[in-house]
Amino acid sequence: MFNVTDYSLLAHNTFGIDAKCGRFVEYSTVEEACKIACMLVEPYLLIGAGSNLLLTQDFDGTVVHSSIKGVEPQQNSRIRCGSGEIWDEVVAWCVDHGYYGAENLSLIPGEVGASAVQNIGAYGAEVKDLIVSVEAVEIGTGKLCVFSREECQYGYRDSRFKHEWKNKYLITHVVYQLTNDDSKKTTEYGNIRSELERRGIEHPTAAELREVVIAIREFKLPDPKEMGNAGSFFMNPVVSRERFEALLAQYPDMPHYYIDADHEKIPAGWMIDQCGWKGRSLGRAGVHDKQALVLVNRGGATGADIVALCQQIQHDVREKFGIDIHPEVNII
Ligand SMILES: Cc1cc2nc3c(=O)[nH]c(=O)nc-3n(C[C@H](O)[C@H](O)[C@H](O)COP(=O)(O)OP(=O)(O)OC[C@H]3O[C@@H](n4cnc5c(N)ncnc54)[C@H](O)[C@@H]3O)c2cc1C
Repeated sequence: MFNVTDYSLLAHNTFGIDAKCGRFVEYSTVEEACKIACMLVEPYLLIGAGSNLLLTQDFDGTVVHSSIKGVEPQQNSRIRCGSGEIWDEVVAWCVDHGYYGAENLSLIPGEVGASAVQNIGAYGAEVKDLIVSVEAVEIGTGKLCVFSREECQYGYRDSRFKHEWKNKYLITHVVYQLTNDDSKKTTEYGNIRSELERRGIEHPTAAELREVVIAIREFKLPDPKEMGNAGSFFMNPVVSRERFEALLAQYPDMPHYYIDADHEKIPAGWMIDQCGWKGRSLGRAGVHDKQALVLVNRGGATGADIVALCQQIQHDVREKFGIDIHPEVNII
């Protein structure tokens, strides 16, 4: 078990914020997770790779991280993965072994444990459709638990681990169901099809789809190793139909997505762009020039710098559209 005090979290968050924690503990086996779960006292923070995290100050408590590794093949194209495995390495493993299902989720930063908390998704795929079960240790008792996909109550980037189960479990393993049926692949989403056509590929293999998804993502999104960021910073707001129709009359080109008879979703990135923020900076924090939903650390930004930019953007969007947008990123 790795256990240190007064530890820098710089290598543990993709925004590249140099905040410290009082103690950092890491479990590499289920037994170690049980030990930590029994002795953990508040305040504590569970983290994966910190790619959906903004640290605004030093954390005066214990940060807990899983380093449980391993991808174990099981029967019928199932795999059981340690929560500390890098998600994209699991996708690469699946593709190398001829399994379909995970390739559209290529290059999403973060670890296996968080995939089951966040219900990561991209290019028409969501990890909830692959998850069979989540294995965890209950904090306080050290009890081993196995949750089915249904029990995790997955929704859009959402799960029970973000609500009533928040900070209650240390995830140790996740079991995913892949398939060797290549007719299950998703190619009609975003610009996947046009990129495949450009490459002259009609029936892509999982490896070819992975390459295409990686190429599209690398073009659109900043690499956290080069420019600190946490992916999409804000959630896309869902507004009432009445509000939506009033806005559409004012902005006929506004993109929107049907939710239900009473609600419509509006892309926050479009609104931020309309407010003139795309590519702009406020001090050392900025808005990515290719995707206005992504806030970036232009170098040496503190968590407070990013929060100041976030608040200014929220203010401007509220002034222009009368809509409140909220961060998707965990702000600590
Ligand atoms: C460039 C970039 C692009 C991105 N693109 C996408 C995308 O396309 N789709 C998408 O869905 N997300 C995307 N994200 C967001 C991010 O990658 C995901 O939210 C990812 O799942 C976070 O993983 P993590 O390991 O970094 O978790 P963290 O950010 O460290 O933690 C996320 C949550 O999981 C909990 N957690 C983590 N590990 C455990 C564990 N072992 N036990 C219990 N709880 C745990 C934490 O408490 C926290 O609530 C992107 C981020 C970046 C930087």
